[in-house]
Amino acid sequence: MTQLRRPLIAGNWKMNGLVADGTALANSLTALTEKNDLGCEILVCPPAMIIHTVGSIIKTSIIEIGAQDCHSAISGAHTGDLSAEMIKDAGCSYVILGHSERRTDHGESDKDVKAKTEAALNAGLKVIICIGETESERDQGKALEVVCSQLTNSMPDVINADQLVVAYEPVWAIGTGRIPSLGDVEEVHLALREKLQHISNEDTALRMRILYGGSMKPGNAKELLALKNVDGGLIGGASLNANDFVAIANCC
Ligand code: PEP
Repeated sequence: MTQLRRPLIAGNWKMNGLVADGTALANSLTALTEKNDLGCEILVCPPAMIIHTVGSIIKTSIIEIGAQDCHSAISGAHTGDLSAEMIKDAGCSYVILGHSERRTDHGESDKDVKAKTEAALNAGLKVIICIGETESERDQGKALEVVCSQLTNSMPDVINADQLVVAYEPVWAIGTGRIPSLGDVEEVHLALREKLQHISNEDTALRMRILYGGSMKPGNAKELLALKNVDGGLIGGASLNANDFVAIANCC
């Protein structure tokens, strides 16, 4: 990893945690990161209902807070949805968009992700855009084609490396305990870096962080995070345990 890209370790808490759980986790994370120069940026993305609680605990720490989705509209008749401006107003600096669970559960397309990304950037949020192939796409030898197409079509028209992060998350590795071979991760990250250069420019492509996500744990984080073009991790399950999450961050 080069100094050009400060690693980002982001925790996606998904739909886990009541106020008491979020409070305990945020307190533990604050304590564990207090005297620790981890050499990376740390972000947690709790469920929207506890963003305020978690945010008020971590506000004096080095930990940043983000959301897991936003709507593409500024406001209006969208029952149950949250606008990017609301997320920013709640104290968030980031939003995760295009997670495979949203693409599957809510039928989100690359076009939807692009529209949401534009809205989030307009509201002053940074965006983690998630992409990744399914197992059958990998088995058919289509992984690179799929992720490069998702990247191209999910990106906003103006690509800024200070505001955007890409997360490569093979769908079949999320929550399964399985990870691709290190060579496969390296191959995808290199292809994404090259595609970024193609759709933006060399400087932006060099400065954009590309995270790996999918069953990253303390036991495999060191080797994954040491790979060329892997600039951090998006962590689901292991981010719900403060010791595990900070152990992963320590691998940076
Ligand atoms: C995720 O959902 O973004 C993720 C990477 O999950 P897990 O770490 O549990 O595989």
